Amino acid sequence: MDFGIRGRNALVCAASKGLGFGSALALAKEGVNVTITARGVETLEAAAKKIREAAPGVTVKTVAGDITTVEGREQALSVAGEIDILVNNAGGPPPGDFRDWEREHWIKALDANMITPILLAKAVVDKMAARKFGRIVNITSSSVKAPIPVLGLSNGARSGLHGFIAGLSRQVAKDGITINNLLPGRFLTDRLKVTMNKGGTLQGEALEAEIAKQATTVPAGRFGTAEEFGQVCAFLCSTQAAYMTGQNVLLDGGNYPGSF
Ligand code: NAP
Repeated sequence: MDFGIRGRNALVCAASKGLGFGSALALAKEGVNVTITARGVETLEAAAKKIREAAPGVTVKTVAGDITTVEGREQALSVAGEIDILVNNAGGPPPGDFRDWEREHWIKALDANMITPILLAKAVVDKMAARKFGRIVNITSSSVKAPIPVLGLSNGARSGLHGFIAGLSRQVAKDGITINNLLPGRFLTDRLKVTMNKGGTLQGEALEAEIAKQATTVPAGRFGTAEEFGQVCAFLCSTQAAYMTGQNVLLDGGNYPGSF
């Protein structure tokens, strides 16, 4: 299926690895020119090289910087230029006990996982409306639907984003803009490996065994891959998905046990 977005321009934030990278790769394979960001230059340039090899013919630009800062966002927006597709992503907040979190921990989580995507949407939405086409996908977490107690910072900050997006998506729907949240369950990325290595105590075969054991707890019998996550992201950006907006799309191999 041709997603009808060939030649469009995307800004994919936090995309040198994992779910952001999977999303940039899938968009590029659909013929979308991508600007990808991350803080670490080396991994970012390696990611850009992989995308160029997999999708010759598209333009791949890189911006090294922290997307949760004013400078990082300004640089990303200026390098990306005209943005038809915005994929919001950033690292997730650390786990912990809410009794240990002070105001600055909450502000940091809100900055990364609520305010940054809102400010980036603000920067692009009116220009998208003028062109009568826009796609915004926010990479959030299944924890918005089924909160994970140790990830309280993530549960709280991301829920705030979802509440805001529910309103904004309806305000801009008539302008050809869709805004959806893509909620990952468990995907085998570096982040998941770090959370499963029990504070660095598990390495090599022991870590592989733990990953295999944990994967059996997912109804699908495995963790998701960044590639399949990216393909769903690309679908949400497609012309076929033009009537789908304000939705929270859970991608979790059946892990969430509810009917709704
Ligand atoms: P990952 O494999 O660790 O990749 C994170 C990517 O984001 C890297 O490219 C990283 O590069 C970049 N990044 C992190 N902080 C950034 C910042 N402040 N500015 C710019 N780039 C930044 O993580 P992932 O598993 O793909 O997770 C992506 C998001 O999905 C996270 O918010 C995570 O909490 C959420 N999530 C993931 C899962 C899962 O199972 N994987 C489940 C639920 C939710 P640099 O470090 O070089 O900046």
